[in-house]
Amino acid sequence: MNSIYNYNLEELSTILTERGIKPFVSNQIFGWLYNKIEPDINNWSNISNTNKEIIDSLFDLNLDKVEKVEKDSSGTKKFLIRLQDDLLIESVLIKESDHYTFCISSQVGCALQCAFCATGKMGFFRDLTSGEILSQIILLKKELGDYKRKLNLVFMGMGEPLLNYDNLKKALSIIIADTGINIGQRNITISTSGFLGKIKQLEEDFPKIKISFSLNSSNQENREKLMPISKKEPVKPILNYFKTKKRQFRVTFEYVMIKGVNDSLEDALKLNKLLSGISCKINIIPYNENKSISFKSPEKKKVEKFSDSLFKKGYTVMVRWSKGKEINSACGQLSADNRQV
Ligand code: SAH
Ligand code: SF4
Repeated sequence: MNSIYNYNLEELSTILTERGIKPFVSNQIFGWLYNKIEPDINNWSNISNTNKEIIDSLFDLNLDKVEKVEKDSSGTKKFLIRLQDDLLIESVLIKESDHYTFCISSQVGCALQCAFCATGKMGFFRDLTSGEILSQIILLKKELGDYKRKLNLVFMGMGEPLLNYDNLKKALSIIIADTGINIGQRNITISTSGFLGKIKQLEEDFPKIKISFSLNSSNQENREKLMPISKKEPVKPILNYFKTKKRQFRVTFEYVMIKGVNDSLEDALKLNKLLSGISCKINIIPYNENKSISFKSPEKKKVEKFSDSLFKKGYTVMVRWSKGKEINSACGQLSADNRQV
């Protein structure tokens, strides 16, 4: 049976109308699923018992199962989630000073095999359905209880979101709708390692969603070594696009800084040249170490020198020392163990 979370309001309404259920009932169901975060049909007080029986016979109403929650001293929590076919994914609830950020997965594993990334190391299992993308957000929201203030959503968990575009798009349309989860586009960031066609499509479909581009190198040659996808999706046309396209928000370039690989002042100078003329922010993420990968975190001094030199050139530079490292939930550390236990 198909999960109810895989249907948008129109699809749900079409199915239920065929069974003689009035369209407003679908809105009420959406209210329970996405606004009140009440997945238990027994508690849907405004739905008649007859209708409940029909709904229950048509759809799987279960959310994916939280297998384990790990918490670190900063309040960040990593959720290990078991999907219906027993594969595992991870989502992270990050406590910021005045709000929460949800870091969501888009695929089980990732096919792109960036040399530095634990998700890449595990290989690719499959795309997540739109319902599985939504399910993560609902599970994290449930954890927050009555919390009604600001939520940011970042697609920086497992997988390459733009390689699962159709399901991402469907999930996003429910995430941003006021009949759905109702998170504003400007509070959502999609991180990608680059797929120009899909970046353009995303910006057309959701003009206010923010894009982070995982650049990670100051030159094409080095990027190809770190991110094999760069051979097929070279960086120049993507940067040209960001240079010329009028946009709602500045693009963010993520730069995972790895000791002895891309942390020199020379790299900073090259990066300055590469990005000149692009209205952007630069987000430096000091490498989070993984036990299965030999790369090392850069020295703090090097990170400071690198970021200072770009700052002096006029760039907005943020250094993001990741939270959640104690529980292996920082950027690039998600690698749910997908042995079937
Ligand atoms: N596939 C997408 C989104 C997921 S990864 C992408 O690559 O953009 C989110 C970010 O984590 C990317 O910027 C990636 O470069 C970064 N990252 C991967 N491994 C990392 C690690 N070990 N330490 C720090 N950042 C890492
Ligand atoms: Fe995939 Fe992103 Fe990891 Fe690269 S950094 S392997 S694209 S998840």
